[in-house]
Amino acid sequence: MKTIIAANWKMNKVRSEAQKTAKALREGIQKASLPSDRSVFVFPPFLSLDVVAEAFQGQSKTVVGAQNFYPAASGAFTGEVSLDMLKDCGATWVLVGHSERRHVLHEDNALIAEKTRFALEHGFGVMLCIGETLEEREAGKLQEVLSSQLSSALAPLGFDRDRMQDSCIIAYEPVWAIGTGKVAGEAEVTEAHALVKDILASVSQATKDLPVLYGGSVKPSNAHSLLQLANVDGLLVGGASLEAESFLQIITA
Ligand code: PEP
Repeated sequence: MKTIIAANWKMNKVRSEAQKTAKALREGIQKASLPSDRSVFVFPPFLSLDVVAEAFQGQSKTVVGAQNFYPAASGAFTGEVSLDMLKDCGATWVLVGHSERRHVLHEDNALIAEKTRFALEHGFGVMLCIGETLEEREAGKLQEVLSSQLSSALAPLGFDRDRMQDSCIIAYEPVWAIGTGKVAGEAEVTEAHALVKDILASVSQATKDLPVLYGGSVKPSNAHSLLQLANVDGLLVGGASLEAESFLQIITA
């Protein structure tokens, strides 16, 4: 299975900064001659998608995605962005269910399921983010939360295994570890990833082998050891992906 390293730039960087970082990443990736089983995803803000896609043009190991979209083809949805608009700017994947969309922008499992289906039906890849809050973990609800987040989004889909394998990636990101500097311990990551794989197997044959990334305060100093853990198929990186140098260290960890 491929090792996937993804960057979520969140609401950071104006276009010129995004372009500069993307060019530095492209050069770094070319120089590093990455192993063939490693691929890099970058999720810049909407307004920088075109410059980032242009910087990565012709690079088979890099994928450009958007951090959000609205699940309708077009119409009266003021302020929203459609998949056609994203495609026009070079995006082929979308992040869905990121904890900031769930907890800051109040997206619930029903909307996340709708977005997952809509994006997959319209030819986009989906990086589906899941994860528990500290309160949920402390209340012993880890399994319940991950199960409902995964089943609500994936169980209603009727795609076959090959289709899902090519176009869906799960990112397990404990909410308490995102942007806090508190990386989950090795035992916690191993336990949660095993649980996610079990839930995926119970959802359907089509989802049972989906890759599962870890996200939450990943840094150059912990990337390598996280990648060695069982059932960790890659990393989703926020803060440490903003500087090309630090993200390159993670890509090559
Ligand atoms: C994220 O935004 O998905 C994330 C994991 O952020 P950070 O690496 O900054 O914790």
